[in-house]
Amino acid sequence: MGDKAAASGNDPKRARDESVEPDDVLSERAKREEISARLASIIEHSNDAILAKDLTGTVISWNKAAERMYGYPAEEMVGQKLDRLLPPDRKNEVMEIVDRIRRGEDVEHFQTVRQRRDGERISVDLTVSPILDTEGEIVGASVIARNITDQLDRERAVLRSETRLQIAKDAAGLGIYEWNIVTGIIAWDRRIRAIWGIDREEVVTFETFAAGLHPDDRDSTQQAIDEALDPDGNGRFEAEYRVIQRGTGAMLWIRATGLATFERRQPLYLVGAVQDVTEMRRMVTSLEQADRRKDEFLATLGHELRNPLSAIMTSVECMRRGAGDPDSLYDLIVRQAEHMTSLMNDLLDIGRVTRGDVRLRRERLQLADQIDLALKTLRTEIEAKGHEVEVSIAPPDLVIVADPIRLEQILINLVGNAVKYMLQSGTITIDAGVVGDSIEIAIRDTGIGLPDEGDATRIFDLFYQARKGSGGLGIGLNLVKSLVELHGGKVTVHSEGANRGSTFRVTFPARAVTKPSTPPSDTALPTDLQNLRVLVVDDHEDALRAVGVMVANYCETRTAISGKIALEEARRFRPQLVLLDLALPDMNGFEIAAAIREMPGLERVRIVAMTGFGDSETTRQVEEAEFDGHVLKPIPIRSLLDIFRSTLEGANGDTTESA
Ligand code: ADP
Repeated sequence: MGDKAAASGNDPKRARDESVEPDDVLSERAKREEISARLASIIEHSNDAILAKDLTGTVISWNKAAERMYGYPAEEMVGQKLDRLLPPDRKNEVMEIVDRIRRGEDVEHFQTVRQRRDGERISVDLTVSPILDTEGEIVGASVIARNITDQLDRERAVLRSETRLQIAKDAAGLGIYEWNIVTGIIAWDRRIRAIWGIDREEVVTFETFAAGLHPDDRDSTQQAIDEALDPDGNGRFEAEYRVIQRGTGAMLWIRATGLATFERRQPLYLVGAVQDVTEMRRMVTSLEQADRRKDEFLATLGHELRNPLSAIMTSVECMRRGAGDPDSLYDLIVRQAEHMTSLMNDLLDIGRVTRGDVRLRRERLQLADQIDLALKTLRTEIEAKGHEVEVSIAPPDLVIVADPIRLEQILINLVGNAVKYMLQSGTITIDAGVVGDSIEIAIRDTGIGLPDEGDATRIFDLFYQARKGSGGLGIGLNLVKSLVELHGGKVTVHSEGANRGSTFRVTFPARAVTKPSTPPSDTALPTDLQNLRVLVVDDHEDALRAVGVMVANYCETRTAISGKIALEEARRFRPQLVLLDLALPDMNGFEIAAAIREMPGLERVRIVAMTGFGDSETTRQVEEAEFDGHVLKPIPIRSLLDIFRSTLEGANGDTTESA
């Protein structure tokens, strides 16, 4: 650098040595002074802060812009150390810059922070250059400083809003596009490229977009685009279409929105966002299907309840008029009422199983007894249709560990279906035995079979019916599957095809023994039953009368239609057993039970709750209130006799459940 200065020919050292100053030298100096003054003026009026410092960091010059920027007038700065501009955390910075200048390094656009006279911190961009003396030695540095606080704030704001936009886009799963209609090029972001299966490098045009559209959606999408690009419209683009992803062939549902911009009625850009709504569509479709299934189910339910009801009402009418054979009318009524009861139980149980409300009471059971019970329940239907039943159990005294009520429900549903789905008289074969470490029960029929292979899995779905109007709700097999699985077992179906029969196979794990089995319900009735005093409480007049008549057939009976009457009767009649409805208008069953138990001499009375609610909350309340049992209406005669028996035996806490 020294050489450069010497070679310049403007060496002031040489000029100083001249004792006589010729004219040209004088004019040369005048010119230089003029240039120098002009430079000084430029510096003084520059919009950038320009200052000079020596190698100790002392300020030599300080222009107007520096005064404005840092708030210090020149008088306060010239001759002072530049360090006063440094915030406390950057105290060494001036000397570091000076060192770099000394080493001959350029310092350009060094961005840092300085502190104004009023203490405010500002962001500055510094360009520092060396000042050379006449020998070419570095004697100081000039600094051009620019306040970039606003610019940085703006940049940060842009960055923040871009980051926010990106986060929002990611959160909403939005892809952004910009279609330059004039050039035909579409700018797609990463997300849209991924949807279409297009890599980053590929140039995207309208053709790329159109090629990915599902053929069935091309026309409607094109129409939505045409409307958006119509200068007389509002420029809005909204469409939902399917995209067939290049490479994978996957089909995705896309919702697209956009807005077109125009210049002199010519569309220039269509800019907007797309969203992958495949999952949402799938959920909407499945909700719509569920809603349709619910409507169908309600229609089926109405149908299924109306049929047995009309059979019952007609039979009752016939009996009243003395028409027809009373025995067969009676059988018909029983059959239809039992059918309605089992529909109702299945229906309520579906909800309970789904909520996890069903608790199993596993017992050791003779499988033969359980199959017998189920066949007895279905006897009238089997006989009416003229079906044969063949049962073979190996070994004949095979013991199964299961919940007796649930096992009966499983068997009744499967055998009931076999009865129902054999349109002509046929044969039901029940084979049970041990296979490996499981007990397997196979129920085979010679009925309509399953024409469609897919039915083998679908028929276990809730509400699924291969043929509508076949007399059911489409819930039985779903319940069977849940109950079998609750036992740790499995149920499958096999059919050779239409009209070739079906075989349902249920397997239960062959478990270790738990509780001893309950005595069969049909054992002889206790002889002293007629002395048992039973109070029946229900606000439903007909239900009360019916249960009253039934109980009176075996025991000494009183009935009460309200809480108040119940307490009066309890005091007078001193019952040993109370069958108590929980929902009475004047008092609830819990209050009645508590009041009865407080009566002297009635502390040990047996009180059984009788409800239409089988939900877990009612069950919990009944258990907490220490009722001696809980039966669901309608009460099967078997359960009633069990309650009488255990009351006479003085047994405690032997809760009876629904049918
Ligand atoms: P549903 O009340 O309709 O009988 P299920 O859940 O018990 O309901 O059965 C579901 C469907 O499975 C039935 O509608 C019927 O189409 C089919 N299905 C059930 N059992 C049999 C069977 N033994 N033979 C032929 N099809 C059957």
